[in-house]
Amino acid sequence: MYNFEYKNPVKIVFGKGTIPNVVNEIPKNKKVLMTYGGGSIKRTGVYDQVKTALKDFDLLEFGGIEPNPHYETCMQAVELIRKEKVDYLLSVGGGSVLDATKFIAAAVLFEGSDPWDILDKPATSPVKAALPLGAVLTLPATGSEMNGNAVITRKATLEKKAFGSALVMPQFSILDPECVFTLPDRQVANGVVDAFVHVMEQYLTFDVNAPLQDRLAEAILTTLIEEGPKVLADRNDYQAAANFMWCATMALNGLIAVGVPQDWGTHLIGHELTAFHGIDHGRTLAIVLPGMMNLKRAGKKDKILQYGERIWGITEGSDQERIDATIARTIAFFESLGVPTTLPEYDVPAETIDKITFRFKESGMKFGEQRDIDYQTVEAILKDRL
Ligand code: NAP
Ligand code: FE
Repeated sequence: MYNFEYKNPVKIVFGKGTIPNVVNEIPKNKKVLMTYGGGSIKRTGVYDQVKTALKDFDLLEFGGIEPNPHYETCMQAVELIRKEKVDYLLSVGGGSVLDATKFIAAAVLFEGSDPWDILDKPATSPVKAALPLGAVLTLPATGSEMNGNAVITRKATLEKKAFGSALVMPQFSILDPECVFTLPDRQVANGVVDAFVHVMEQYLTFDVNAPLQDRLAEAILTTLIEEGPKVLADRNDYQAAANFMWCATMALNGLIAVGVPQDWGTHLIGHELTAFHGIDHGRTLAIVLPGMMNLKRAGKKDKILQYGERIWGITEGSDQERIDATIARTIAFFESLGVPTTLPEYDVPAETIDKITFRFKESGMKFGEQRDIDYQTVEAILKDRL
């Protein structure tokens, strides 16, 4: 196991009927900007619950944050915050609203000339300060509610980039599983796949003698496999919704990452598919992960065999046959949720592979747990999914 430091200061308020507790979490003297998305919170009643709870606060609103939130939209919020001297942000929505809110929190206090550098040049433009923020989460998927990561898209250049800073971790996140009741099938399926692949990015690497970390990861995978289909089958199954929601948080709050190598290659490649084609984040991961497993079957061999055996009961055949069966079982799981896993099913043309490969070639990046995935590997992974 590797050395590590771990601190997660996010207060989680979890359970049925907990949204009104937001009033206890925000300091009373704050001028608050509530951020939200395209209006789902108005249809579901979450907006009214928050407004009622915060009726005595000086509360402004900024709506219209799109899925895969745009840098351009975030910068409008930054302008409003500066003008109105807002000093606390409250994200009410899914991962997109929360990621946007994190970026806004950092961009408002950014001292350089262009806040895009927070995403584009993290090594030379680290976040040094951010406004405090809290969250009411309406969609289990990203884990953004308990981490310091955010992913932002620049519409003008079709770039989707991530940054991470402990300074943008929410001070609190309220997780009411009843929010799951109003999610469409597609968002439930996306959420299960996103959480599943978050675990895989931190688990399907190479062995470093960290059996507790492995078993924590396997517990989340198994629970998602059990609970995800229950949520899809019956949106009012509170227990299934609650367990799904907690899985998504646990999948990316840093706990299963400590002491072990991490990959994140599936996410990096998936972000490009969203940047060029607007494909939902979770769906891009369902496309890329099987290709990643196939192309990295040598470096990931021991972990793929362990995952196949412990999660899917695959024990028969040669190592290569077991790896093939494990990839096939993973694809079958995603498809059972209604998530297609090949590029043609999303109408992605072969030229997109060239564009994405070119981007990785230009950047000269090498990534994955062995730092050996280059543009040629990216091309092979994507061609595997044609
Ligand atoms: P999302 O983009 O926040 O939301 C997807 C859709 O679901 C939106 O149309 C939203 O509508 C709707 N919605 C949200 N809650 C709802 C509810 N309770 N009932 C009905 N509809 C609801 O989805 P997400 O999967 O949570 O976030 C995806 C983004 O997070 C991507 O940009 C991805 O790259 C990023 N991400 C971040 C991390 C991280 O660690 N920070 C990790 C993985 C992915 P409204 O817009 O109307 O609200
Ligand atoms: Fe993700």
